[in-house]
Amino acid sequence: MPLHAPEYADVAAAADRIRGHAHRTPVMRSRTVDAEFGAEVFFKCENLQRMGAFKFRGAFNALSKFDARQREAGVVAFSSGNHAQAVALSARLLGIPATIIMPQDAPQVKIDATRGYGGEVVLYDRYTEDREAIGRDLSQKYGLTLVPPYDHPDVIAGQGTAAKELFEDAGPMDALFVCLGGGGLLSGSALSARALSPGCQVYGVEPEAGNDGQQSFRSGQIVHIDTPKTIADGAQTQHLGQFTFPIIRREVADILTVSDPELIDAMNFYAARMKIVVEPTGCLSFAAARAMRAELAGKRVGVIVSGGNVDMRRFCELLLSKG
Ligand SMILES: *Cc1c(COP(=O)(O)O)cnc(C)c1O
Repeated sequence: MPLHAPEYADVAAAADRIRGHAHRTPVMRSRTVDAEFGAEVFFKCENLQRMGAFKFRGAFNALSKFDARQREAGVVAFSSGNHAQAVALSARLLGIPATIIMPQDAPQVKIDATRGYGGEVVLYDRYTEDREAIGRDLSQKYGLTLVPPYDHPDVIAGQGTAAKELFEDAGPMDALFVCLGGGGLLSGSALSARALSPGCQVYGVEPEAGNDGQQSFRSGQIVHIDTPKTIADGAQTQHLGQFTFPIIRREVADILTVSDPELIDAMNFYAARMKIVVEPTGCLSFAAARAMRAELAGKRVGVIVSGGNVDMRRFCELLLSKG
């Protein structure tokens, strides 16, 4: 069956599939932030999702749609971390064998968690080897179904359920800030925004060092870059996808970038003021909202906090790296 571009109906169907399996994560507020912005800011806390990031939504949705043959042969995924854990956990819950291809320099906590969920881990060098080729190879050899981290309609539809819940629980927004890697979360969020909060301006936010999404958005072509060096390890993607890019081009207001020091400031704020652990990549959205807060005065602002998986030693080092 050829894959079709996902629509909001697919997000709604995904919401039914994940119900009872994924957490309906809380929407947090902060008086300090509201005062700082002169706005109402709503944080959708996917750092509190199962396995610690929104990626459980897309993975569980995709694996739930496997037929009997696919379930028996198993799933293969390649990921710098959170997608790996998401596929491993979803596979375990659904009784499907999982093989996960991970970069050898991925945070140890993510590699350990993936193994802990029962996934078979295959390591590769992210600067010299092509993970997509390794994945294709395994899927051909053993009949495994490849579930990509972002560029798949079922993954996009699953990721869109986080923003769907935000609009349902907190009402329509004037602006929504979404962390951006390959664009699964952003494109899914944009589908939900279009359906549930039509006037909402949706912004994707990526690391300054890897602004391929911004370049692609502005040029109208998918731009490929080398693996960027940034502390936002979940957004070290090299390009947007065939499914994510058209939706982003059509539905998103702009793509913004933030620096690593701005991510550390946001991470510090989350920990010190809101008492939540957010991984560097999960700080992209709030860091960008903060940088443009003057324009957001008087508005209703949504911030998707995408994940909280960070090695505790690394978390402390990052917090201490700025005075
Ligand atoms: C994967 C990931 C992202 C980026 O999501 P995409 O769908 O690839 O754009 C952002 N934040 C966290 C925590 C992630 O794990």
